[in-house]
Amino acid sequence: MFIKYDYEEEEKKSGLKIVLGLLFLILVFGLLTFYWFVPRGGVYFENVPAHSNFSLGVSASMQFYENMRFPEKKISYKIDDCSLQKTYNMKQAFEFIEGDTVLEFYEVLDDEDILIICDETREMNGGLFIAGEGGPTNITQGGEFNIIQHGQIRLIKESNCKNPNIAIHELLHVLGFEHSLNRNNIMYNITNCDQIIGPDIFELIDNVYVAESLPDLLIEKVSANLEGKYLSTNISIRNIGLKDASDSKLIIFVDGKQIEEVEIESMQMGYGRVLMFSNIWISQLRIDEIEYEIRTEFSELDKKNNKIEIKIGDD
Ligand SMILES: [Zn+2]
Repeated sequence: MFIKYDYEEEEKKSGLKIVLGLLFLILVFGLLTFYWFVPRGGVYFENVPAHSNFSLGVSASMQFYENMRFPEKKISYKIDDCSLQKTYNMKQAFEFIEGDTVLEFYEVLDDEDILIICDETREMNGGLFIAGEGGPTNITQGGEFNIIQHGQIRLIKESNCKNPNIAIHELLHVLGFEHSLNRNNIMYNITNCDQIIGPDIFELIDNVYVAESLPDLLIEKVSANLEGKYLSTNISIRNIGLKDASDSKLIIFVDGKQIEEVEIESMQMGYGRVLMFSNIWISQLRIDEIEYEIRTEFSELDKKNNKIEIKIGDD
């Protein structure tokens, strides 16, 4: 998603700044005079912050999908061919987010989580110039989380603001955030220097990164067919966690008695596998239930989903 800026508006603003500067000086002299000659009481200026929350009262989801996050709270980045100013803006943006959340960003030479590229071309969209672009480029659907495996930012316009608002805006897109309809929020789709990050963005980031980066093997589906004393069964397993799973074991029990044990080789996050067994000889005459269990030697997000049982009806 991209963010736009109003070029003319900006020109107007710098003119306005000079006028405001002069007015300010006049005001300061005025106030000094006031202070020296009328030394009683006080004059207060109060800065009331504008409502800056992501949603304008309506409860809107802030991310493109539910619970979007990178696998780890330490996220790597690479800045490719950017001017000193834009590189500085980007690094400031990382520090900004780091300062108020559990996230940590670090620079790498390759195999980065976030790639930052720069571009000077002036592109228009909907009558406004594009200031930057950013978003996740690879999302894997997990169980509880939608896992961002890679993101990209394209910085086009250098930021003239005190805070690197464009870089922060694009970084928040990469972290899964959508546009806000609140013009005071940094995620509004037209940039301006007064926009700020509402506390709700920081809260959501910290919440979604509470869970440790662990794998989570799940028995998704099983089917079994018994013919005489021979059992055939299929088992679908998936890693719905935040990390690749190393080797584990699948054990099958028939009425509490172990009848099969196989190795499950390592499984990447988001990936699944179907195990098929045919004609396992069962000594019993009748079966009540079959139980399937994945045993791991590593921690998982959830161990409860490692077991499933099916009842075999009388026929
Ligand atoms: Zn945007």
